[in-house]
Amino acid sequence: MTDPNCIFCKIASGQIPSACVFQDETAFAFLDIGPLAEGHVLLIPKEHYQTLDQMPPDVAGRLLRRLPVLVKAAAEVAGAEGVNVLQNNGKAASQEVPHVHFHIIPRRAGDAFRFNWPASKYPPGRMEELAKAIREKL
Ligand code: 5GP
Ligand code: ZN
Repeated sequence: MTDPNCIFCKIASGQIPSACVFQDETAFAFLDIGPLAEGHVLLIPKEHYQTLDQMPPDVAGRLLRRLPVLVKAAAEVAGAEGVNVLQNNGKAASQEVPHVHFHIIPRRAGDAFRFNWPASKYPPGRMEELAKAIREKL
């Protein structure tokens, strides 16, 4: 299913032009129009899913099997020393476009991209409690 109002559905179907780098039955990959680095690629499913948790596992599998080769190609073309793969789900997680997408961002030491990574610590017992709660959801 596609969403006629969704910009990424329109890009994947060719209604809106993009700098496409790869496509198959399931996946479409193209350059981000507002790159965090040269060669910043977006990998999306051709079908419309707002967030990753809504994707059937087999579709997610068919999409994600394209990730390694795209990471390698983008990194080589950009002359990158590393790559970040980012995937935002929901507004609280900085998702602007509500169609699942994986950012492939080539990185170089000392480049302008900064993470805010406010690592914290668990109080005693909390880690085990959370792991158990998550296991029980699977
Ligand atoms: P998000 O914040 O949802 O994870 O990222 C959305 C990304 O989509 C942004 O990096 C933005 O630059 C990119 N984007 C939004 N609209 C377009 C578009 O029309 N064409 C392309 N190529 N990228 C887009
Ligand atoms: Zn869509």
